[in-house]
Amino acid sequence: KSLLERIQATEPLIHAYLKVDRDQALSQAEKADEMRAKGRGTRLTGIPCGIKDVLCTEGITTTCGSRILENFVPPFDATLVGNLKKAGAVILGKQNMDEFAMGSSCENSAFGPTRNPWDLNAIPGGSSGGSAASVSACSSFFSIGTDTGGSIRQPASHCGVVGLKPTYGRVSRFGLVAYASSLDQAGPLARTVADAADVLQVIAGHDPQDSTSAPKEAPDYQSALLKGVKSLKLGVPKEYFVEGTDPEVEEAVKNAISHLESLGAELVPVSLPHTEYALPTYYIVAPAEASSNLARYDGVRYGLSVRDPEDDLKDMYKKTRTTGFGPEVLRRIMLGTYALSAGYYDAYYGKACQVRTLIKQDFEKCFKEVDAIVCPVAPTPAFDIGQKVDDPMQMYLSDIFTLAVNMAGLPGLSLPCGVSAGNRPIGLQIMAPHFAEETLLTVGHAFE
Ligand code: GLN
Repeated sequence: KSLLERIQATEPLIHAYLKVDRDQALSQAEKADEMRAKGRGTRLTGIPCGIKDVLCTEGITTTCGSRILENFVPPFDATLVGNLKKAGAVILGKQNMDEFAMGSSCENSAFGPTRNPWDLNAIPGGSSGGSAASVSACSSFFSIGTDTGGSIRQPASHCGVVGLKPTYGRVSRFGLVAYASSLDQAGPLARTVADAADVLQVIAGHDPQDSTSAPKEAPDYQSALLKGVKSLKLGVPKEYFVEGTDPEVEEAVKNAISHLESLGAELVPVSLPHTEYALPTYYIVAPAEASSNLARYDGVRYGLSVRDPEDDLKDMYKKTRTTGFGPEVLRRIMLGTYALSAGYYDAYYGKACQVRTLIKQDFEKCFKEVDAIVCPVAPTPAFDIGQKVDDPMQMYLSDIFTLAVNMAGLPGLSLPCGVSAGNRPIGLQIMAPHFAEETLLTVGHAFE
C-alpha cells in the first residue's frame, strides 16, 4: 500500500509506469501474506516490483512503448514473470521504455518520456528508463528490465541504481517481445547488488519453452556475495579509457577501480582490440534482427489494424505500420531491411557476423588472464531531455561501452560509483565470462 502511495506521489514527475494495476497488486500482496504466514515464503515474497512493458503479463496490457501494441493484452505470462509470481513477488505494474527497446534515453516511448529522479531535466537512460527511474524514485523495490545493447546497465548507471545483464541464455526469453533475438536478455534493476542477486535467483534457470535458454541450474547467488575480491584479477581495458569520455566519468571510474585494488584485487592492464567495431557491428546486427522480428506486426495478428473499406492487403500493411510505429522503429526497420537485402547481405550482415566473432574472441583471450573486466558504463552522465533526439548518431554513441557485452553474450553489472558536479550519477561496469554472474556479484558487493 505504501508503494502504491509512493507511485501516486512520484508519477506526475517521473512517469516511470505505463500501467499500475492496484487490484492485482493488492491481491498478490494478500497472497504473499498468506504464503509467509504458512512459512512458505521466499526472499522475494511480498516484495513489490515493476516490469518493463516488453515482458508479457497475463491479462495486463503489454505495449512495448508502441502505439501498434497499445491495446494488446497477452493471454499468458512471460516465464520470468510467472517465476516472480510463484516466488510471491508483488507486481505493481508495467514500466515505460523506448519503443520496442530501441533507444538510449527513454524518449522514444510513444507514451511520453520518463524523467530522471536525480534531475527532472535529465533523461533516465534507455531503453529500460522507466524501470531504472522507478527503483531510483523508490516507487518499486526492484524492476525487471531488458538489455540488448546496454538497456539495463546504462539506465541503471544514469539513475544511480544497480543493473545486472545476465549471460545470454541464463534467463528465459519466453514471453519477452523480441527486438534482436540473439542479443536480448532480461535482468534485474535494484538498489543493491545483494537485492539483484535475490532477483536473479528467482528468474535464472532453464526453460524448455525457450530453445536458447541454457540447460544449467542456477547456483546459489547469495553465497557469492561475501567471497571478497582478494584472490581476483581485474582487467582494465585500455580501449575503454579513450578520448571522448567525460573527465568526471573517467575520474569516478578510476577511483572505483583503485578502491577495488585497495580491497585486495589485482589490476591487470588488458586490451580488447576490436572494441571500436562493436558499435557499427551492433547497428547492423540489431536492426537486421529487428526488421525480421517486427514483420509480425501486420495489422492481422496483433494490436493495431488500420484499414479503409476499399483497401487491399498491402494498403493495410502500409497504413498499420506507418501509423503504429514511431520514427526510430521505422528507421531501424529500414536499416535492417537494407542490410539483409540481396546484394548487400554479404557486405553488411555477413561481415557484421564475422566481426562479432572477433569481438567475442577478444573477450575469450582476455578471460584467460583475468576473472573480470572493469570499465565505465557510459561515456557521459545522463544528458538533458531533448539534447540528442534529433541526432541518432550521437544517441547511438551513448552505448559505446555496453554493446560489446551483448555481442559476446556475456554478463555485465552496472553499479553506482560517483556523482557528477551537476548531481548526475556515474556507474562502474563489471564484465565477466559466460555464466560467471557470481563473479559480478562478488566484485559488486565488495565495492558496495
Ligand atoms: N540503445 C541500444 C539500441 O537502441 C540498446 C537498446 C537495448 O539494449 N534494448 O538498440
